[in-house]
Amino acid sequence: MNNVRHDLALMVRLQELYDRIAVAIRERQTPPHEVRKLHQANLDRQAELEKIEQQVQTHDDELKEVRKKEEEWKLELEHFQRQKGMVTNEREFTAVISEIDYATKALEEAASRRRELEDINGALVAEIEERRGARPEEEAAHKDVVEAWENRKQELMAQVHGLVTEAKNLESGIDPKNRARFMRLLESKKGTAVAVVVEGSCSLCHFALRPHLQQRVRRCEEIITCETCHRILYMEETINEVDTATESV
Ligand SMILES: [Zn+2]
Repeated sequence: MNNVRHDLALMVRLQELYDRIAVAIRERQTPPHEVRKLHQANLDRQAELEKIEQQVQTHDDELKEVRKKEEEWKLELEHFQRQKGMVTNEREFTAVISEIDYATKALEEAASRRRELEDINGALVAEIEERRGARPEEEAAHKDVVEAWENRKQELMAQVHGLVTEAKNLESGIDPKNRARFMRLLESKKGTAVAVVVEGSCSLCHFALRPHLQQRVRRCEEIITCETCHRILYMEETINEVDTATESV
């Protein structure tokens, strides 16, 4: 068995390993629909909660202002009520009464707004608690889905590790020059470095090989690459011959 034939056979097997690695990695990067849906639902729920919390914060800010105003009007009212006891004529009395009316109204308005805000925030805080409380149940219901996916990801990771080890072993059996060529192609050709010739054409780019080139691929005395896509070419029968030869050794 010549070295080119031997290296070609190993490269084809190596390509199969890299294909399986790519499939496993792709699966690992693509969570199932159920998991993605769940993840999105969690994000949405979180966003809703944050929105409510933001509303509570806004109301709290206004509450601080309203409480301050309420205090101020209370002091104002006390002040005018003391004045009322010290007036000396009708004109002063009318003026103080008018101030008292005004302050009373303002105080009532502030108190009413304060109560309103307190009620709204009370309801919102209760809603937040309820939503938070409901989450563990929902999460438990979806736990199986998430766990199954996590397990699958671990499985795929272990698979990739195993395949990589296998690939490294194969690579060590290939002539360094050919191996380097294969690895360069693997990187530049989106993970596919070799192509089988089917009915005289490159199976990947469908370029029809000239008869002379087909013969050279069949003879297997040198590494031949596709003239169009530059991948390493081989024929199915060549690889099969190597398999038989390997088995008979
Ligand atoms: Zn090609």
